[in-house]
Amino acid sequence: MSSKTVVIGSGVAGLCTAYYLRRFDADVIVVESNRIGSGASFANGGWLCPAQAGPLPEAGLTLTGMRALLARDSALYFKPSHMQALAPWLVRFRSYCNERDHQRGTAAIGQLGRGVFDLVEEMQRDGVEFELHRQGMVYAAQRVEDGRRELHKLAPMKQLGYDLPDDIITGTELHELEPALSPRIAAGFLVQEHWHVKADTFTAGLAAALRRSGVEILEGAEVFELETAGRSVTRVRTAAGDLDAENVVLAAGSWTTALAASLGIAIPMEPGKGYSFSVQPKVMPRHAVLLVDVHVGCTPFDDRLRIGGTMEFSGVNSRLDHRRIDNIVAGAQESFVPWQTSAVAELWAGMRPITADGLPVIDRTEEYENLFIATGYAMQGVTLAPPAGRALAEMITTGRRPDLLEPFRIGRFPRIPLPVRFLRPRQ
Ligand SMILES: Cc1cc2nc3c(=O)[nH]c(=O)nc-3n(C[C@H](O)[C@H](O)[C@H](O)COP(=O)(O)OP(=O)(O)OC[C@H]3O[C@@H](n4cnc5c(N)ncnc54)[C@H](O)[C@@H]3O)c2cc1C
Repeated sequence: MSSKTVVIGSGVAGLCTAYYLRRFDADVIVVESNRIGSGASFANGGWLCPAQAGPLPEAGLTLTGMRALLARDSALYFKPSHMQALAPWLVRFRSYCNERDHQRGTAAIGQLGRGVFDLVEEMQRDGVEFELHRQGMVYAAQRVEDGRRELHKLAPMKQLGYDLPDDIITGTELHELEPALSPRIAAGFLVQEHWHVKADTFTAGLAAALRRSGVEILEGAEVFELETAGRSVTRVRTAAGDLDAENVVLAAGSWTTALAASLGIAIPMEPGKGYSFSVQPKVMPRHAVLLVDVHVGCTPFDDRLRIGGTMEFSGVNSRLDHRRIDNIVAGAQESFVPWQTSAVAELWAGMRPITADGLPVIDRTEEYENLFIATGYAMQGVTLAPPAGRALAEMITTGRRPDLLEPFRIGRFPRIPLPVRFLRPRQ
């Protein structure tokens, strides 16, 4: 078999990289352990929200404060039984909880995401079919000062050219703008430059376009070994057979950490689980809505409203914790006019890949000259995957790193020994 660029993972990160590699005329094959787009890219909010660029580590998250995050009801939750395994990551994460790193990270992510609107429009012109909505997003807060604080957080994005309002709106003006909000919501603002896709249609559309352009996508093809010779990965061993590799792109979302570790490469990254479900509202929101008090995102699709939230650090698993889902339901219910029925449907959990500094890793590895990583897109995978995929494909095919990728080098993390769980012999 002739050598190709093997992309591991068919979430948004893998598919967008494959899409642009193909546009740069590379021979590509995508391998996926499960079904196309079945990981975190499946039922997320689908927001294209590049102005919402703040990485997860923020100033003010002290170790003492983090104790509160061991409570199961907390929107950001560290599961106590996972704390030992999480500790090395958490110590690093904590070291990025300061104003300087947060500002730097926000600027880097804001810059990377800036091109997403042009890129998704270009994809559609190129025949990639997916559901795209350009309704904008309303930030909604129960208290005026919280609405104002949220807008203030976005202010630095203006310097990157994002179109943001100068002030919040309240009362009748807000409720006329978004009639689905309950009277409890006192303040908010509209960010018009915010679109959304239906996440599963985006991955399905990309996969179909890739297949039309001759790219093979192997489903049910779990990668279990990467064979190396010297400074190259030579072969990718999958459940569907072995593949000779010219280049390899590791884009396996939250599973990337273990695959990289199998080659001795440590990426400080943990899965941050989130949940989503659908309801049938009586009044469908006209916009996507971010409920800032409860950190819940709501996305309108036809007759269903998808609601999602929480960030749970409990290891690699997609288990549904119904108490946490009930919390999201309660938070959303008090923020909207009553729903048609209280039934929630399409319960789902997905794992966001979260690095210790909250920024993606989009780079060539130092150990292997033909091994590339595209991961760590955290809360913004749908938003960042198109520009990141384009820039990485350029780097792979030309050998030159676009400036845009400078902040996302893997070498920015001080070298650490691999966590003990990755040193156990394979079963
Ligand atoms: C509730 C929720 C809401 C969200 N809302 C938004 C939003 O509105 N906007 C936004 O931009 N982002 C959002 N996100 C974040 C976004 O979903 C993620 O950042 C993104 O999906 C990550 O994509 P990925 O391709 O890196 O990982 P994944 O989508 O998880 O893809 C990784 C793929 O690799 C495959 N794989 C794993 N191991 C192997 C192996 N050994 N061999 C072969 N294949 C393998 C997996 O099966 C999977 O399909 C949300 C996330 C959640 C949980």
